[in-house]
Amino acid sequence: MIRIHDLDKSYGTGKLTVEVLRNINLTVSEGEYVAIMGPSGSGKSTLMNILGCLDRPTRGTYYLSGRDISKAEEPELARIRNQSIGFIFQQFQLLSRMTAQKNVELPLTYAGIKGSRRRRMAASSLERVGLADRRHHLPSELSGGQQQRVAIARALVNHPDLLLADEPTGALDTESGMRVLDLFAELHREGKTIVMITHDPEVAACADRRIDIRDGQILEKRRSGGHAL
Ligand code: ADP
Ligand code: MG
Repeated sequence: MIRIHDLDKSYGTGKLTVEVLRNINLTVSEGEYVAIMGPSGSGKSTLMNILGCLDRPTRGTYYLSGRDISKAEEPELARIRNQSIGFIFQQFQLLSRMTAQKNVELPLTYAGIKGSRRRRMAASSLERVGLADRRHHLPSELSGGQQQRVAIARALVNHPDLLLADEPTGALDTESGMRVLDLFAELHREGKTIVMITHDPEVAACADRRIDIRDGQILEKRRSGGHAL
């Protein structure tokens, strides 16, 4: 699903260049559940932005589902983002004036899906995350854990190939965080490919495989049991 070869990412030019990612090689197979773990500032979000086609590498190749997208232009990247990738963020990123249902409908609106089909798809996605009875609530009327599950319903509504989550439990209490991780485990059993970014080893242990990143470089690969591959 994902194949990254010798990828670098830097920001700025000349003396102001900041090298954020160096020599990243990474493969994620279809159906895998991978955690990318590292301390704050190690380059996790930068990597997620590249994986999610929100940003492009400075050097190297990125194949997503067999296509080299490292040099794709914006309209193409936007199409891939909308059709193939579901995003989940630490701060949920829901629109505060829209109900849960309307938030979940948004990606379908962008995809040109209309009327009752759009409403049905969004309702079914909310049902999938256990929030059918909260459809008409605003984000401010929901708990943090419920808001994150609305965001997960939104990420799933297009049936994306890849689910990308950046610190999905970072803003949640332990119990709501566990509920989100249980949901990821179920989605994984159903065959979803998930890449989750975290700084928390206990959260990373929920994935099949953990990839450690330090100062923009991948350290080593581990099974969740802790044995080096
Ligand atoms: P993490 O998510 O692991 O905390 P980030 O990917 O957000 O790390 O950031 C990694 C490093 O890249 C940090 O030192 C940060 O200051 C730097 N960085 C991130 N984005 C930019 C940018 N747009 N311009 C310059 N430096 C950046
Ligand atoms: Mg980050």
